Amino acid sequence: MIIGIDDTDSIEGMCTTYLCAVLVAELKIYGEVSTPRLVRLNPCVPFKTRGNGAVSFEINVALERVEEVKEVVKARVSELSEVQAEGTNPGVVFIHDNFLRTVRIGGESETAENECIEILENFYETAVRGILRVEQACEIISKLQFDYFVLKKKRGLIGALAAASFLVIQRGKPDYYDSTFELVAYRLRERWGTSRFIEESSVWKADEDTYPLTWDTVDIENNRLVLAPHSPCPVLFGIRGDSVDAIYKAYRVIRAEPVEREMLFITNQGTDSHLITATCEETEAEAEAELQDYLSYVLTGVVASDPRTIDGGHVVFALTLAGKTGGHIECIAYEPTKGFRNIIRKLCSGDKVTVYGSFKNRTINLEKIELRELNVDIKIEKNPVCEGCGKRMKSAGRSQGYRCKRCKTHCSEKEVQIVAREVETGLYEVPAVARRHIAKPLIRVWMEGGITNIHLSR
Ligand SMILES: [Zn+2]
Repeated sequence: MIIGIDDTDSIEGMCTTYLCAVLVAELKIYGEVSTPRLVRLNPCVPFKTRGNGAVSFEINVALERVEEVKEVVKARVSELSEVQAEGTNPGVVFIHDNFLRTVRIGGESETAENECIEILENFYETAVRGILRVEQACEIISKLQFDYFVLKKKRGLIGALAAASFLVIQRGKPDYYDSTFELVAYRLRERWGTSRFIEESSVWKADEDTYPLTWDTVDIENNRLVLAPHSPCPVLFGIRGDSVDAIYKAYRVIRAEPVEREMLFITNQGTDSHLITATCEETEAEAEAELQDYLSYVLTGVVASDPRTIDGGHVVFALTLAGKTGGHIECIAYEPTKGFRNIIRKLCSGDKVTVYGSFKNRTINLEKIELRELNVDIKIEKNPVCEGCGKRMKSAGRSQGYRCKRCKTHCSEKEVQIVAREVETGLYEVPAVARRHIAKPLIRVWMEGGITNIHLSR
C-alpha cells in the first residue's frame, strides 16, 4: 500500500516530513517500509504552508492488517497535525496493492492500466507546475477507487495524491523523474521552538568534505549556513545531495544538539521540475501568449531596457520575448538574491538572455539567467582630446564642433568609445540562501557535464 500525506503543518510548527518519519518508524512492525518521498509542489501557489512539501511511502503489509495500518496513520495525522491553524487542512491518500498490481509501468499495451498511470503522471506534473483544484484530486481518487482521509477541508488531498503519484511512477521507472536525496535530522520535542544549536565550523567542514555530492548546505559568498530552517518546526537541519554515502558522511561530521530521529527522503528538490520550458517555436509562442500568474517558466528574449535598481534594492529590467507574439515582460532580481543582482546590473539593452523563474503580474522573479549573446555595440561618445595639450576639448557652440581655446585646435566629431562588457556569457544562479527547494543548483548541471559555461554561486 502507498500512503501520501500533505498539509499537516503551519507557520507556527510541525512539519509533514516529521510526521512521516514518526509513521515510518511506527509502521515497521506491520511490514517493510520504503524510503519515503518528499515532493515539493508548485512553489508559487497562493495556498500553501512553508515549503509546500508533501510526503509518501510504501508499506508491504498483509491484506488483513491494512485497516490496522490505516488506523495508525489516521491517529498520528490527527494527533500531530496543526489542525488549529486556519490554513492547515490535512489530507491522506491510500493506494491499495490491488491497484499497484494491475498497473504495469512502462508496459507495451494500450490498456486501461496505462491510462491510470497517465492520469497520475498528469496529476503529479500539474501539482508541481500548475494550479489544481481540490475537486480534481477528488475526481481521480474516486475514479481510481483510492481511499482517503481528511481533517477539515479537503485541500491536503492535492499534495497527498501528488506525492503518492510520484511514488507510483518512481517505483516502476526510477529514472523517469530527476530526483535527489535529503537526510533530515529532527529535534528532541522539548527543544521545539527554542533556538537551534549547530556547531558552525563542523558544518563548513562537512560541506568541504562532501561538496559537490552534497549541496546547499552552506552559502560561501554570503557566509551563511543554509541547512537549518528558522521556523519553530521539529527540523534541526537537512543535508541535500546526489549521493546517499556523501550525505551520511557529512551528517557524521556535523556536531549539534541531540537528535530525536533522522529520516532519508528521495525528493524532487533541486531538479527544476517546476519550470515550464518551451521546446519549439510553436509552443514558445503559445506559452507566451498564455503566460499565467503563479506558474514558472524558462523564457528567451532580448533585454529591452538597461537594468535599474528600485526601492528595496531590487533590480529590474524589461525583456522582449523572442517568440512570435513578441510581448514585453519585466524581470526582477529581489534584494535577498544578493550578489546575483550585480550580474543583472551589468546587462545592457540588446543582450539576448534566457530567464528562469516564477511569473506574476507580468514579471518574472529570477531564479537563474543565461546570458546568451552580449550586445557588443554599446558606444559612449565623449568630447575629442586636444592633440596639443591632451585635455578634452570644449564645445565650440551649437553644430560647430569642438575646440581647445589655449592651443587653438579644432575637431568637428565627438570621439566614440566601444564599451568593454564586464560580464561573461553563460548561466548564472541566485545564491543558496535565496534558492527555492525545488530549484536546480547549477552545480548539479555542472556535474551532469555537457555545459561548460556555468558560473556557480558558491
Ligand atoms: Zn589644447
